[in-house]
Amino acid sequence: MRKDRDLKVGIIGAGPAGLTAAYELAKAGIAVEVFEAGPRVGGLAQTIELWNQKVDLGPHRFFTSDSRINKVWFEVAGRDYRMVNRLTRIYYNSKFFHYPLKPVDALRKLGVGQSVGCLISYLREKLSPTPESDTFESWVVRRFGVRLYSIFFKTYSEKLWGIPCTELDADFAAQRIKKLSLGEAVKNALKGGKGNTHKTLIDQFAYPTGGSGMIYERMADYVNRHGGRVHLKTPVHAVGGEDEENRRTLLLEDGTRRTFDHIISTMPLTLLVSRLPGVPADIRRRVESLTYRNTILIYLKVEGENLFPDNWLYIHSKELQTGRITNFSNWVPEIINGEKASILVMEYWCYDTDPVWTQPDAELIDMAKRELRQTGLIADAPVSEGHVRRLARSYPVYSKGYKDLLKPVQDYLSGLPGLSVIGRYGSFKYNNQDHSILMGILAAENIVSDRNHDLWEINTDYDNYQESSSIETLHPQPA
Ligand SMILES: Cc1cc2nc3c(=O)[nH]c(=O)nc-3n(C[C@H](O)[C@H](O)[C@H](O)COP(=O)(O)OP(=O)(O)OC[C@H]3O[C@@H](n4cnc5c(N)ncnc54)[C@H](O)[C@@H]3O)c2cc1C
Repeated sequence: MRKDRDLKVGIIGAGPAGLTAAYELAKAGIAVEVFEAGPRVGGLAQTIELWNQKVDLGPHRFFTSDSRINKVWFEVAGRDYRMVNRLTRIYYNSKFFHYPLKPVDALRKLGVGQSVGCLISYLREKLSPTPESDTFESWVVRRFGVRLYSIFFKTYSEKLWGIPCTELDADFAAQRIKKLSLGEAVKNALKGGKGNTHKTLIDQFAYPTGGSGMIYERMADYVNRHGGRVHLKTPVHAVGGEDEENRRTLLLEDGTRRTFDHIISTMPLTLLVSRLPGVPADIRRRVESLTYRNTILIYLKVEGENLFPDNWLYIHSKELQTGRITNFSNWVPEIINGEKASILVMEYWCYDTDPVWTQPDAELIDMAKRELRQTGLIADAPVSEGHVRRLARSYPVYSKGYKDLLKPVQDYLSGLPGLSVIGRYGSFKYNNQDHSILMGILAAENIVSDRNHDLWEINTDYDNYQESSSIETLHPQPA
Protein backbone atom coordinates (compact mmCIF):
# COMPACT_ATOMS: atom_id res chain seq x y z
CA MET A 1 0.00 0.00 0.00
CA ARG A 2 1.31 3.42 -0.98
CA LYS A 3 1.62 6.17 1.59
CA ASP A 4 0.18 8.72 -0.83
CA ARG A 5 -2.16 10.31 1.65
CA ASP A 6 -2.61 10.29 5.39
CA LEU A 7 -3.38 6.67 5.99
CA LYS A 8 -5.76 5.60 8.73
CA VAL A 9 -5.31 2.06 9.99
CA GLY A 10 -7.79 0.22 12.22
CA ILE A 11 -6.63 -2.79 14.24
CA ILE A 12 -8.87 -5.42 15.82
CA GLY A 13 -7.42 -6.76 19.07
CA ALA A 14 -4.79 -5.47 21.50
CA GLY A 15 -2.85 -8.70 21.94
CA PRO A 16 0.83 -9.08 20.97
CA ALA A 17 0.07 -9.18 17.22
CA GLY A 18 -2.30 -6.21 17.08
CA LEU A 19 -0.30 -4.04 19.47
CA THR A 20 3.03 -4.72 17.79
CA ALA A 21 1.50 -3.65 14.47
CA ALA A 22 0.04 -0.53 16.16
CA TYR A 23 3.37 0.26 17.84
CA GLU A 24 5.32 -0.03 14.58
CA LEU A 25 2.74 2.03 12.68
CA ALA A 26 2.72 4.73 15.38
CA LYS A 27 6.54 4.87 15.18
CA ALA A 28 6.18 5.50 11.44
CA GLY A 29 3.77 8.37 12.12
CA ILE A 30 0.66 6.60 10.86
CA ALA A 31 -2.69 7.28 12.56
CA VAL A 32 -3.73 4.02 14.13
CA GLU A 33 -6.72 3.00 16.23
CA VAL A 34 -6.88 -0.29 18.10
CA PHE A 35 -10.23 -1.79 19.14
CA GLU A 36 -9.96 -4.27 22.01
CA ALA A 37 -12.95 -6.24 23.23
CA GLY A 38 -11.58 -6.78 26.74
CA PRO A 39 -10.86 -4.41 29.62
CA ARG A 40 -7.05 -4.66 29.29
CA VAL A 41 -4.33 -5.09 26.70
CA GLY A 42 -2.03 -8.06 26.12
CA GLY A 43 -4.52 -10.67 24.91
CA LEU A 44 -3.51 -14.15 26.07
CA ALA A 45 -0.14 -12.69 27.12
CA GLN A 46 -1.68 -10.14 29.49
CA THR A 47 -0.79 -9.84 33.16
CA ILE A 48 -3.46 -9.48 35.83
CA GLU A 49 -3.38 -8.50 39.50
CA LEU A 50 -4.43 -11.23 41.88
CA TRP A 51 -4.20 -11.27 45.68
CA ASN A 52 -1.72 -8.38 45.58
CA GLN A 53 0.60 -10.18 43.16
CA LYS A 54 0.96 -10.17 39.36
CA VAL A 55 0.20 -13.29 37.37
CA ASP A 56 -0.10 -14.23 33.71
CA LEU A 57 -2.70 -16.34 31.94
CA GLY A 58 -0.57 -19.46 32.32
CA PRO A 59 3.22 -19.56 31.92
CA HIS A 60 4.56 -17.00 29.43
CA ARG A 61 8.25 -17.23 28.73
CA PHE A 62 9.70 -15.21 25.88
CA PHE A 63 12.28 -16.65 23.58
CA THR A 64 13.28 -16.14 19.98
CA SER A 65 16.45 -16.20 17.95
CA ASP A 66 14.99 -13.79 15.39
CA SER A 67 16.76 -10.44 15.67
CA ARG A 68 13.75 -8.49 14.35
CA ILE A 69 11.58 -9.75 17.18
CA ASN A 70 14.27 -9.32 19.82
CA LYS A 71 14.87 -5.75 18.69
CA VAL A 72 11.26 -4.73 19.30
CA TRP A 73 10.85 -6.70 22.52
CA PHE A 74 14.01 -5.30 24.13
CA GLU A 75 13.34 -1.79 22.85
CA VAL A 76 10.06 -1.91 24.78
CA ALA A 77 11.30 -3.82 27.84
CA GLY A 78 14.36 -1.61 28.25
CA ARG A 79 16.19 -2.88 31.30
CA ASP A 80 13.03 -4.05 33.03
CA TYR A 81 13.44 -7.77 32.57
CA ARG A 82 15.43 -10.65 34.01
CA MET A 83 16.83 -13.78 32.49
CA VAL A 84 15.11 -16.65 34.31
CA ASN A 85 16.61 -20.12 34.61
CA ARG A 86 14.03 -22.50 33.36
CA LEU A 87 13.12 -25.51 35.46
CA THR A 88 10.29 -27.66 34.18
CA ARG A 89 9.48 -31.25 35.00
CA ILE A 90 6.99 -33.86 33.89
CA TYR A 91 4.73 -35.44 36.48
CA TYR A 92 4.00 -39.03 35.52
CA ASN A 93 3.14 -42.08 37.58
CA SER A 94 3.62 -40.15 40.86
CA LYS A 95 7.20 -39.23 39.86
CA PHE A 96 8.83 -36.05 38.62
CA PHE A 97 10.95 -36.39 35.49
CA HIS A 98 13.31 -33.66 34.39
CA TYR A 99 12.23 -31.94 31.20
CA PRO A 100 14.06 -31.93 28.81
CA LEU A 101 14.51 -35.59 29.62
CA LYS A 102 17.78 -36.58 31.26
CA PRO A 103 18.38 -40.23 30.39
CA VAL A 104 19.84 -41.30 33.76
CA ASP A 105 17.08 -39.51 35.69
CA ALA A 106 14.41 -40.92 33.35
CA LEU A 107 15.75 -44.48 33.47
CA ARG A 108 16.00 -44.41 37.25
CA LYS A 109 12.45 -43.14 37.67
CA LEU A 110 10.92 -45.38 35.04
CA GLY A 111 12.45 -48.48 36.65
CA VAL A 112 14.41 -51.24 34.95
CA GLY A 113 11.44 -52.97 33.28
CA GLN A 114 10.00 -49.83 31.68
CA SER A 115 13.46 -48.55 30.70
CA VAL A 116 14.39 -51.73 28.92
CA GLY A 117 10.96 -51.71 27.26
CA CYS A 118 11.57 -48.12 26.04
CA LEU A 119 14.97 -49.02 24.67
CA ILE A 120 13.68 -52.10 22.86
CA SER A 121 10.78 -50.21 21.34
CA TYR A 122 13.18 -47.42 20.25
CA LEU A 123 15.54 -49.93 18.61
CA ARG A 124 12.64 -51.74 16.99
CA GLU A 125 11.55 -48.42 15.51
CA LYS A 126 15.05 -47.79 14.14
CA LEU A 127 15.19 -51.26 12.55
CA SER A 128 11.68 -51.23 11.18
CA PRO A 129 10.33 -47.68 11.17
CA THR A 130 6.63 -46.85 11.36
CA PRO A 131 5.52 -45.70 7.89
CA GLU A 132 5.78 -41.92 7.45
CA SER A 133 2.36 -40.26 7.65
CA ASP A 134 1.23 -36.78 8.54
CA THR A 135 -0.15 -37.63 11.98
CA PHE A 136 1.34 -36.51 15.28
CA GLU A 137 1.51 -40.11 16.46
CA SER A 138 3.62 -41.40 13.58
CA TRP A 139 5.88 -38.31 13.73
CA VAL A 140 6.74 -38.93 17.39
CA VAL A 141 6.85 -42.74 17.26
CA ARG A 142 9.34 -42.62 14.38
CA ARG A 143 11.70 -40.53 16.51
CA PHE A 144 11.22 -41.98 19.99
CA GLY A 145 9.64 -45.42 19.68
CA VAL A 146 6.17 -46.38 20.75
CA ARG A 147 6.83 -46.87 24.48
CA LEU A 148 8.37 -43.44 25.11
CA TYR A 149 5.67 -41.90 22.94
CA SER A 150 2.94 -43.40 25.14
CA ILE A 151 4.60 -42.20 28.34
CA PHE A 152 5.84 -38.75 27.41
CA PHE A 153 3.70 -37.54 24.50
CA LYS A 154 0.39 -39.32 24.12
CA THR A 155 -1.51 -38.54 27.32
CA TYR A 156 -0.41 -34.92 27.48
CA SER A 157 -1.21 -34.23 23.82
CA GLU A 158 -4.59 -35.91 24.06
CA LYS A 159 -5.43 -33.86 27.16
CA LEU A 160 -4.42 -30.68 25.37
CA TRP A 161 -6.17 -31.31 22.07
CA GLY A 162 -9.05 -33.56 23.11
CA ILE A 163 -8.61 -35.78 20.04
CA PRO A 164 -6.59 -38.98 19.53
CA CYS A 165 -3.00 -38.36 18.39
CA THR A 166 -3.82 -40.30 15.22
CA GLU A 167 -6.17 -37.44 14.29
CA LEU A 168 -3.70 -34.69 15.18
CA ASP A 169 -1.60 -33.22 12.38
CA ALA A 170 2.16 -33.77 12.45
CA ASP A 171 2.49 -29.97 12.20
CA PHE A 172 1.98 -29.67 15.93
CA ALA A 173 5.00 -31.89 16.56
CA ALA A 174 7.03 -30.24 13.81
CA GLN A 175 6.47 -26.82 15.40
CA ARG A 176 6.91 -27.77 19.03
CA ILE A 177 9.33 -30.69 19.08
CA LYS A 178 11.28 -29.76 15.96
CA LYS A 179 13.88 -32.28 14.90
CA LEU A 180 14.69 -33.64 18.33
CA SER A 181 15.03 -37.41 18.62
CA LEU A 182 15.89 -39.72 21.47
CA GLY A 183 19.40 -40.04 20.01
CA GLU A 184 19.84 -36.26 20.14
CA ALA A 185 18.48 -36.07 23.69
CA VAL A 186 20.91 -38.76 24.85
CA LYS A 187 23.81 -37.04 23.04
CA ASN A 188 22.94 -33.73 24.69
CA ALA A 189 22.71 -35.34 28.09
CA LEU A 190 26.12 -37.00 27.69
CA LYS A 191 27.63 -33.63 26.78
CA GLY A 192 26.33 -32.36 30.14
CA GLY A 193 23.87 -30.04 28.44
CA LYS A 194 26.64 -28.09 26.65
CA GLY A 195 25.45 -29.19 23.24
CA ASN A 196 21.87 -28.66 24.22
CA THR A 197 21.01 -25.93 21.76
CA HIS A 198 17.75 -27.35 20.54
CA LYS A 199 15.08 -24.66 20.25
CA THR A 200 12.53 -26.39 22.44
CA LEU A 201 15.15 -27.15 25.07
CA ILE A 202 16.12 -23.57 25.84
CA ASP A 203 16.99 -23.38 29.52
CA GLN A 204 16.84 -19.61 30.06
CA PHE A 205 14.24 -17.14 29.02
CA ALA A 206 13.59 -13.41 29.27
CA TYR A 207 10.77 -12.28 31.52
CA PRO A 208 9.61 -8.69 32.16
CA THR A 209 9.68 -7.50 35.76
CA GLY A 210 6.06 -6.37 35.36
CA GLY A 211 4.82 -9.69 33.97
CA SER A 212 4.57 -10.70 30.32
CA GLY A 213 1.79 -8.15 29.77
CA MET A 214 4.15 -5.27 30.65
CA ILE A 215 5.45 -5.28 27.06
CA TYR A 216 1.99 -4.77 25.62
CA GLU A 217 0.95 -2.20 28.24
CA ARG A 218 4.00 -0.16 27.18
CA MET A 219 3.23 -0.56 23.49
CA ALA A 220 -0.33 0.68 24.12
CA ASP A 221 1.04 3.67 26.10
CA TYR A 222 3.34 4.52 23.22
CA VAL A 223 0.49 4.38 20.71
CA ASN A 224 -1.73 6.56 22.90
CA ARG A 225 1.09 9.12 23.33
CA HIS A 226 1.95 9.24 19.62
CA GLY A 227 -1.26 10.17 17.91
CA GLY A 228 -2.99 6.77 18.06
CA ARG A 229 -5.78 5.39 20.27
CA VAL A 230 -6.25 2.07 21.98
CA HIS A 231 -9.94 1.66 22.78
CA LEU A 232 -10.68 -0.89 25.52
CA LYS A 233 -14.03 -2.65 26.01
CA THR A 234 -14.78 -1.92 22.35
CA PRO A 235 -15.54 -5.21 20.59
CA VAL A 236 -15.66 -5.26 16.81
CA HIS A 237 -18.56 -7.15 15.30
CA ALA A 238 -17.48 -7.35 11.67
CA VAL A 239 -15.29 -6.00 8.90
CA GLY A 240 -17.23 -4.57 5.98
CA GLY A 241 -16.54 -4.55 2.24
CA GLU A 242 -14.62 -1.87 0.34
CA ASP A 243 -16.28 1.44 -0.54
CA GLU A 244 -15.76 3.44 -3.75
CA GLU A 245 -12.63 5.05 -2.27
CA ASN A 246 -11.15 1.63 -1.49
CA ARG A 247 -11.68 2.10 2.23
CA ARG A 248 -13.05 -0.52 4.60
CA THR A 249 -15.58 -0.22 7.38
CA LEU A 250 -15.35 -1.65 10.86
CA LEU A 251 -18.70 -2.36 12.48
CA LEU A 252 -18.43 -2.16 16.26
CA GLU A 253 -20.71 -4.20 18.53
CA ASP A 254 -22.42 -1.00 19.69
CA GLY A 255 -23.52 -0.33 16.10
CA THR A 256 -20.95 2.41 15.37
CA ARG A 257 -19.28 2.31 11.95
CA ARG A 258 -15.67 3.41 11.43
CA THR A 259 -13.85 3.68 8.12
CA PHE A 260 -10.13 2.97 7.52
CA ASP A 261 -7.71 2.72 4.62
CA HIS A 262 -6.46 -0.56 6.00
CA ILE A 263 -7.65 -2.99 8.65
CA ILE A 264 -5.49 -5.48 10.52
CA SER A 265 -7.54 -8.21 12.15
CA THR A 266 -6.45 -10.43 15.02
CA MET A 267 -10.02 -11.48 15.96
CA PRO A 268 -10.80 -15.21 15.55
CA LEU A 269 -10.49 -16.15 11.87
CA THR A 270 -13.71 -18.14 12.04
CA LEU A 271 -15.74 -15.13 13.26
CA LEU A 272 -14.04 -12.70 10.87
CA VAL A 273 -14.84 -14.81 7.82
CA SER A 274 -18.35 -15.79 8.89
CA ARG A 275 -19.27 -12.09 9.18
CA LEU A 276 -17.43 -10.74 6.13
CA PRO A 277 -19.77 -9.75 3.27
CA GLY A 278 -19.58 -11.58 -0.05
CA VAL A 279 -17.63 -14.66 1.09
CA PRO A 280 -18.16 -17.64 -1.26
CA ALA A 281 -20.13 -20.53 0.26
CA ASP A 282 -17.19 -22.95 -0.07
CA ILE A 283 -14.91 -20.66 1.96
CA ARG A 284 -17.58 -20.26 4.64
CA ARG A 285 -18.04 -24.03 4.86
CA ARG A 286 -14.30 -24.57 5.25
CA VAL A 287 -14.05 -22.05 8.05
CA GLU A 288 -16.98 -23.66 9.86
CA SER A 289 -14.94 -26.87 10.05
CA LEU A 290 -12.04 -25.23 11.89
CA THR A 291 -12.15 -25.71 15.65
CA TYR A 292 -10.50 -24.14 18.66
CA ARG A 293 -9.79 -25.60 22.06
CA ASN A 294 -10.55 -23.61 25.23
CA THR A 295 -8.49 -23.25 28.40
CA ILE A 296 -9.77 -23.02 31.96
CA LEU A 297 -7.23 -21.47 34.31
CA ILE A 298 -7.72 -22.19 37.99
CA TYR A 299 -5.54 -20.02 40.24
CA LEU A 300 -4.93 -21.19 43.78
CA LYS A 301 -3.38 -19.16 46.56
CA VAL A 302 -1.25 -21.51 48.63
CA GLU A 303 -0.07 -20.29 52.02
CA GLY A 304 3.64 -20.99 51.92
CA GLU A 305 6.91 -20.12 50.18
CA ASN A 306 9.34 -22.30 48.22
CA LEU A 307 6.78 -25.01 47.65
CA PHE A 308 8.64 -26.54 44.70
CA PRO A 309 11.32 -25.20 42.36
CA ASP A 310 9.72 -25.45 38.89
CA ASN A 311 8.51 -22.55 36.76
CA TRP A 312 5.89 -24.96 35.54
CA LEU A 313 5.26 -28.72 35.32
CA TYR A 314 3.63 -30.81 32.63
CA ILE A 315 1.11 -33.25 34.05
CA HIS A 316 1.13 -36.44 32.02
CA SER A 317 -0.61 -38.72 34.51
CA LYS A 318 -3.95 -39.90 33.17
CA GLU A 319 -5.62 -39.88 36.57
CA LEU A 320 -5.34 -36.07 36.75
CA GLN A 321 -7.31 -33.88 34.37
CA THR A 322 -5.00 -30.89 34.67
CA GLY A 323 -2.28 -30.61 32.03
CA ARG A 324 0.07 -27.99 33.45
CA ILE A 325 0.80 -26.35 36.79
CA THR A 326 2.66 -23.03 37.00
CA ASN A 327 4.26 -21.57 40.10
CA PHE A 328 4.59 -17.78 39.67
CA SER A 329 6.83 -17.52 42.76
CA ASN A 330 9.66 -18.98 40.66
CA TRP A 331 9.61 -16.36 37.89
CA VAL A 332 10.85 -12.93 38.99
CA PRO A 333 10.63 -11.49 42.54
CA GLU A 334 9.05 -8.22 41.35
CA ILE A 335 5.69 -9.85 40.52
CA ILE A 336 5.35 -11.38 43.99
CA ASN A 337 5.30 -7.96 45.59
CA GLY A 338 6.80 -9.15 48.89
CA GLU A 339 3.88 -11.51 49.57
CA LYS A 340 4.50 -14.78 51.39
CA ALA A 341 1.81 -16.85 49.68
CA SER A 342 2.52 -18.68 46.40
CA ILE A 343 0.10 -18.37 43.50
CA LEU A 344 -0.21 -21.46 41.32
CA VAL A 345 -2.30 -21.82 38.20
CA MET A 346 -3.62 -25.13 36.93
CA GLU A 347 -4.67 -25.50 33.31
CA TYR A 348 -7.58 -27.57 32.00
CA TRP A 349 -8.46 -27.80 28.31
CA CYS A 350 -11.87 -28.45 26.81
CA TYR A 351 -14.31 -27.75 23.99
CA ASP A 352 -17.37 -25.51 24.31
CA THR A 353 -19.57 -28.59 24.55
CA ASP A 354 -17.66 -30.27 27.40
CA PRO A 355 -19.53 -29.97 30.74
CA VAL A 356 -16.38 -28.68 32.50
CA TRP A 357 -16.51 -25.46 30.40
CA THR A 358 -19.72 -24.38 32.14
CA GLN A 359 -19.09 -25.98 35.53
CA PRO A 360 -19.50 -23.53 38.45
CA ASP A 361 -16.29 -21.87 39.66
CA ALA A 362 -16.56 -23.34 43.16
CA GLU A 363 -16.62 -26.89 41.78
CA LEU A 364 -13.65 -26.17 39.51
CA ILE A 365 -11.66 -24.77 42.41
CA ASP A 366 -12.43 -27.87 44.49
CA MET A 367 -11.28 -30.11 41.63
CA ALA A 368 -8.02 -28.15 41.24
CA LYS A 369 -7.34 -28.27 45.00
CA ARG A 370 -7.94 -32.02 45.06
CA GLU A 371 -5.67 -32.65 42.06
CA LEU A 372 -2.93 -30.39 43.40
CA ARG A 373 -2.88 -32.31 46.69
CA GLN A 374 -2.71 -35.57 44.78
CA THR A 375 0.55 -34.52 43.10
CA GLY A 376 2.20 -34.10 46.50
CA LEU A 377 3.64 -30.76 45.34
CA ILE A 378 2.32 -28.68 48.23
CA ALA A 379 2.41 -31.24 51.04
CA ASP A 380 -0.08 -29.96 53.63
CA ALA A 381 0.22 -26.22 52.91
CA PRO A 382 -3.23 -24.62 53.14
CA VAL A 383 -4.98 -23.34 50.01
CA SER A 384 -6.75 -20.16 51.06
CA GLU A 385 -8.29 -18.81 47.83
CA GLY A 386 -9.27 -19.80 44.31
CA HIS A 387 -10.00 -17.87 41.13
CA VAL A 388 -11.16 -19.07 37.69
CA ARG A 389 -10.54 -17.60 34.22
CA ARG A 390 -11.98 -19.08 31.02
CA LEU A 391 -10.11 -18.49 27.75
CA ALA A 392 -12.23 -19.25 24.72
CA ARG A 393 -10.49 -20.34 21.49
CA SER A 394 -7.03 -20.33 23.08
CA TYR A 395 -5.66 -23.12 20.83
CA PRO A 396 -6.33 -23.55 17.10
CA VAL A 397 -6.75 -27.30 16.67
CA TYR A 398 -4.39 -28.75 14.08
CA SER A 399 -6.55 -31.75 13.28
CA LYS A 400 -5.38 -33.96 10.43
CA GLY A 401 -5.90 -32.24 7.10
CA TYR A 402 -6.56 -28.78 8.57
CA LYS A 403 -4.02 -27.22 6.20
CA ASP A 404 -5.98 -28.34 3.12
CA LEU A 405 -9.07 -26.81 4.70
CA LEU A 406 -7.28 -23.58 5.50
CA LYS A 407 -5.30 -22.95 2.31
CA PRO A 408 -8.20 -21.74 0.11
CA VAL A 409 -9.35 -19.52 3.00
CA GLN A 410 -5.88 -17.97 3.20
CA ASP A 411 -5.82 -17.48 -0.58
CA TYR A 412 -9.25 -15.87 -0.51
CA LEU A 413 -8.32 -13.46 2.29
CA SER A 414 -4.98 -12.61 0.64
CA GLY A 415 -6.94 -11.41 -2.36
CA LEU A 416 -8.95 -8.88 -0.33
CA PRO A 417 -7.35 -5.42 -0.50
CA GLY A 418 -7.13 -3.33 2.63
CA LEU A 419 -7.31 -6.28 5.03
CA SER A 420 -4.44 -8.10 6.78
CA VAL A 421 -5.14 -11.14 8.91
CA ILE A 422 -2.64 -12.01 11.64
CA GLY A 423 -2.40 -13.44 15.19
CA ARG A 424 -2.91 -16.73 16.96
CA TYR A 425 -6.64 -17.32 16.62
CA GLY A 426 -6.61 -14.49 14.07
CA SER A 427 -4.72 -16.50 11.46
CA PHE A 428 -5.36 -19.96 12.97
CA LYS A 429 -1.70 -20.56 13.84
CA TYR A 430 -0.37 -22.10 17.04
CA ASN A 431 1.64 -18.94 17.72
CA ASN A 432 3.84 -18.04 20.63
CA GLN A 433 4.30 -14.37 21.45
CA ASP A 434 7.31 -14.15 19.15
CA HIS A 435 5.35 -15.36 16.12
CA SER A 436 2.54 -12.89 16.81
CA ILE A 437 5.04 -10.08 17.34
CA LEU A 438 6.67 -10.91 14.01
CA MET A 439 3.29 -10.95 12.28
CA GLY A 440 2.64 -7.47 13.71
CA ILE A 441 6.05 -6.17 12.59
CA LEU A 442 5.63 -7.47 9.05
CA ALA A 443 1.97 -6.42 8.70
CA ALA A 444 3.03 -2.87 9.63
CA GLU A 445 5.99 -3.03 7.24
CA ASN A 446 3.66 -4.03 4.38
CA ILE A 447 1.68 -0.84 5.01
CA VAL A 448 4.53 1.56 5.80
CA SER A 449 7.09 0.45 3.24
CA ASP A 450 4.91 -0.98 0.52
CA ARG A 451 6.39 -4.43 1.16
CA ASN A 452 4.68 -7.66 0.30
CA HIS A 453 5.54 -10.06 3.12
CA ASP A 454 3.43 -13.19 3.01
CA LEU A 455 2.02 -13.09 6.53
CA TRP A 456 0.65 -16.64 6.26
CA GLU A 457 4.19 -17.97 6.03
CA ILE A 458 5.08 -16.93 9.58
CA ASN A 459 5.12 -19.91 11.92
CA THR A 460 4.80 -22.21 8.91
CA ASP A 461 8.22 -22.02 7.38
CA TYR A 462 9.76 -22.37 10.82
CA ASP A 463 13.46 -22.17 10.24
CA ASN A 464 13.44 -19.42 7.62
CA TYR A 465 11.98 -17.07 10.17
CA GLN A 466 14.66 -17.83 12.73
CA GLU A 467 17.84 -15.88 12.18
CA SER A 468 20.88 -16.51 14.30
CA SER A 469 21.26 -14.01 17.08
CA SER A 470 20.99 -14.38 20.80
CA ILE A 471 19.19 -12.52 23.51
CA GLU A 472 22.37 -12.01 25.52
CA THR A 473 24.32 -10.32 22.74
CA LEU A 474 21.50 -7.96 21.93
CA HIS A 475 20.87 -6.69 25.40
CA PRO A 476 23.06 -7.76 28.28
CA GLN A 477 21.28 -8.80 31.44
CA PRO A 478 21.28 -5.99 34.01
CA ALA A 479 23.12 -6.82 37.23
C1 LIG B 1 -1.88 -20.96 28.64
C2 LIG B 1 -1.01 -20.31 27.62
C3 LIG B 1 0.36 -20.31 27.79
C4 LIG B 1 1.18 -19.68 26.84
N1 LIG B 1 2.53 -19.68 27.04
C5 LIG B 1 3.33 -19.00 26.19
C6 LIG B 1 4.72 -18.92 26.42
O1 LIG B 1 5.26 -19.49 27.36
N2 LIG B 1 5.46 -18.18 25.56
C7 LIG B 1 4.91 -17.52 24.51
O2 LIG B 1 5.64 -16.82 23.80
N3 LIG B 1 3.60 -17.62 24.25
C8 LIG B 1 2.80 -18.33 25.06
N4 LIG B 1 1.46 -18.43 24.81
C9 LIG B 1 0.93 -17.87 23.55
C10 LIG B 1 0.71 -16.37 23.60
O3 LIG B 1 -0.15 -16.04 24.65
C11 LIG B 1 0.09 -15.99 22.27
O4 LIG B 1 0.92 -16.42 21.22
C12 LIG B 1 -0.11 -14.51 22.06
O5 LIG B 1 -0.80 -13.93 23.12
C13 LIG B 1 -0.90 -14.33 20.77
O6 LIG B 1 -1.07 -12.97 20.51
P1 LIG B 1 -2.18 -12.51 19.48
O7 LIG B 1 -2.18 -11.03 19.50
O8 LIG B 1 -1.96 -13.21 18.22
O9 LIG B 1 -3.55 -13.06 20.06
P2 LIG B 1 -4.28 -12.83 21.51
O10 LIG B 1 -3.24 -12.77 22.54
O11 LIG B 1 -5.29 -13.89 21.54
O12 LIG B 1 -4.92 -11.41 21.32
C14 LIG B 1 -6.07 -11.20 20.56
C15 LIG B 1 -6.81 -9.99 21.14
O13 LIG B 1 -7.92 -9.69 20.29
C16 LIG B 1 -9.04 -9.37 21.10
N5 LIG B 1 -10.27 -9.61 20.32
C17 LIG B 1 -10.75 -10.79 19.89
N6 LIG B 1 -11.90 -10.61 19.20
C18 LIG B 1 -12.11 -9.28 19.18
C19 LIG B 1 -13.13 -8.48 18.60
N7 LIG B 1 -14.15 -8.99 17.92
N8 LIG B 1 -13.05 -7.13 18.78
C20 LIG B 1 -12.01 -6.55 19.47
N9 LIG B 1 -11.03 -7.30 20.04
C21 LIG B 1 -11.07 -8.63 19.88
C22 LIG B 1 -8.89 -10.28 22.30
O14 LIG B 1 -9.64 -9.81 23.41
C23 LIG B 1 -7.39 -10.25 22.53
O15 LIG B 1 -7.02 -9.22 23.39
C24 LIG B 1 0.61 -19.07 25.71
C25 LIG B 1 -0.77 -19.08 25.54
C26 LIG B 1 -1.58 -19.72 26.47
C27 LIG B 1 -3.07 -19.75 26.25
